[in-house]
Amino acid sequence: MILPILLYKNKKLRKINKNIKKNYNILNIINNMFDTMYFYKGIGLSAPQIGININLFIIGFNNIKKIFINSKIIKYSKKKILSKEGCLSLPKININICRKKNIYVKYYNHKWEKKKKKIYDILSIIFQHEYDHIKGKLIIDYLSKKKKKKLNFKYNN
Ligand SMILES: [Zn+2]
Repeated sequence: MILPILLYKNKKLRKINKNIKKNYNILNIINNMFDTMYFYKGIGLSAPQIGININLFIIGFNNIKKIFINSKIIKYSKKKILSKEGCLSLPKININICRKKNIYVKYYNHKWEKKKKKIYDILSIIFQHEYDHIKGKLIIDYLSKKKKKKLNFKYNN
């Protein structure tokens, strides 16, 4: 089922998203998230973007289709990488963001298997973007005040 995506002014996007328990029924949510992400041609989507404040996000591009539950970034590389990012909650805007090139993460997959992995480059960038959503952060937060004004956003925070 395709769901509406919350836009940047929505307060639900600013909440800290809590870890979920194993008995929490997420399969339906995950399916809806993939339907929604593919429909809007995104490459990642977090649960808070569809109004559910839990630590869950998905990534899908090329042949990659991944589900991340209760994620945590354990380590960041020193090497950085510049990325030009868009967000389904901020249509028609791209922002240059300096990300860490590689990260070391832990999470659960949809079968509740515990994973620890180093992830690289584009996947690392998308992971950091979605992980920001889990922490209530949006790409506009990387802009200077001046640039924010230029974009003429009205903020809730
Ligand atoms: Zn986003």
